[in-house]
Amino acid sequence: MAMIGFIGLGNMGGPMMRNLLKAGHKVRAFDLSETAKKAATEAGATVVDKAADTAEGADVVVSMLPAGEHVKSVYLGEAGVMARAPKGCLFIDSSTIDVASAREVAAAALANGQLMVDAPVSGGVGGAEAGTLTFMVGGSDDSFAKALPILEAMGKNIVHAGGAGNGQAAKICNNMLLGISMIGTCEAFALAEKLGLDAQKLFDISSKSSGQNWSMTSYCPVPGPVPTSPANRDYQPGFAAAMMLKDLKLAVEAASKAGASVPLGSQASQLYALFAGAGHAGTDFSGIINMLRGAK
Ligand code: NAD
Repeated sequence: MAMIGFIGLGNMGGPMMRNLLKAGHKVRAFDLSETAKKAATEAGATVVDKAADTAEGADVVVSMLPAGEHVKSVYLGEAGVMARAPKGCLFIDSSTIDVASAREVAAAALANGQLMVDAPVSGGVGGAEAGTLTFMVGGSDDSFAKALPILEAMGKNIVHAGGAGNGQAAKICNNMLLGISMIGTCEAFALAEKLGLDAQKLFDISSKSSGQNWSMTSYCPVPGPVPTSPANRDYQPGFAAAMMLKDLKLAVEAASKAGASVPLGSQASQLYALFAGAGHAGTDFSGIINMLRGAK
């Protein structure tokens, strides 16, 4: 069993950390929030005073933080995790962050005699609690091999996407496609309404035709056809519009740096910015159908 440092015990990190404890690992945990720290103590972790303290004697440090700036501030610098962690220690950053920051931190770990993978997730809070997350992993073969048994305690589907930063690349490409396909699906259902075509009929036809896609068949943006979708509970998330907007912005920023054209990704980002700015940041991302119908 490993000695694991865990930084960032929020909606995702809290349950992920608990699954590491359940698997028999010892965890030294840190978060800025007192509530999160209290919950971690109750779950059986040793809570420490600073992020870098989690790395003391650690085999592995896992982080689940909001954005690239938090990841850099925690790992880098004289008082950071890298400076405190033993040589050979493995860092697993599961936060969704920009590709450039992920590659910068991984290069610093390598230069310091440590290993690092970026391992963003999909599966949401439900997947984090059930230990069924999908991990998209970027890093060397050695780093991936060392990370695998740790990730298996928190997830089910673990894919090595290539070198450093490729986990983040996979995550933002997937979520850009999801944002675009959700908007397209919402447009189709909104048009059907105006044309007098029943939503269930469109679903029955399109879910078995060339318009079929996950946003329709697993997460349908109108109530009825998929009983588990957020549309059936007044668009309570699920996956909040603010999080979709974050991922779309990361995709558009990465595209700009890489010289890729993402006209629909850019449009999707703008539409989610409008939706979130109109007071719906906390609404499920499928709720954008109401904005496309013309509602405020
Ligand atoms: P969250 O806001 O619930 O948790 C983030 C935690 O990090 C908070 O508890 C915060 O106090 C802590 N934190 C911030 N800065 C810190 C620092 N310097 N040191 C220690 N702790 C610090 O967010 P979340 O929903 O758990 O998401 C975490 C990451 O996972 C994000 O990058 C998000 O994009 C990604 N993600 C979230 C979901 C989801 O459904 N919530 C799904 C996939 C990916």
